[in-house]
Amino acid sequence: MDGSLESRVSRQVDDWLNWLPRWRPGTHRGRARLCRTCFGSPVIAAAGLATDVPHAVQHALAMRMKHLIDAEVDEFTEANLPLLSREIRLNEERKAASAYHPADGLDPAYTGLDLDPPAAPDAPYLFTFAELAQPEASAATPVAPPPLTDEEKAAIRAEVTRADEHAALVGGRVCAELFRHRERMRKAVAEFVEPWVLALLADLDTALDSPLWPRGM
Ligand SMILES: [Zn+2]
Repeated sequence: MDGSLESRVSRQVDDWLNWLPRWRPGTHRGRARLCRTCFGSPVIAAAGLATDVPHAVQHALAMRMKHLIDAEVDEFTEANLPLLSREIRLNEERKAASAYHPADGLDPAYTGLDLDPPAAPDAPYLFTFAELAQPEASAATPVAPPPLTDEEKAAIRAEVTRADEHAALVGGRVCAELFRHRERMRKAVAEFVEPWVLALLADLDTALDSPLWPRGM
């Protein structure tokens, strides 16, 4: 991968800033649960986007940073953690042998979200992407590797700890770099996002004032 982590963060911020003017408030129904990537995310806090910013706008940045951190940790793992690399490779081979992966290759703005919007109670889906993503019981399963010895398990656990420590280190550097960009990110949100939010609030106000919804009821 080219360039320092900091310059890659900076390029991802540029990319998010280029995307921001195309953002529009969603007309779909709200999410059924909190987003695990964004809720309480130190990345979002470091970017200065934790309050009064629509989730889709936060999510598009958080996923860019997540991909960046994941790629950095993968690279570290491949170079320094041979046992963990082997386990990951075997796991990917098993995964590739099964089923359909509707969440693979999505744009960062859409990754990590529910695959299907909630179904209306009177109109259930014939099938959902989440169901299609389940491994098929009938799919041919590759031969399982021989079980690991206790020493091997301990060695893999030690490598997992090192990978976690590296991820925390990279995450900290990403946050520090994002902090340096928060001014231009906040400015762009004020320019491209807030007018839409204010317009929505004004619409809501008009709807509440309408004779179809009289006040004081
Ligand atoms: Zn999110």
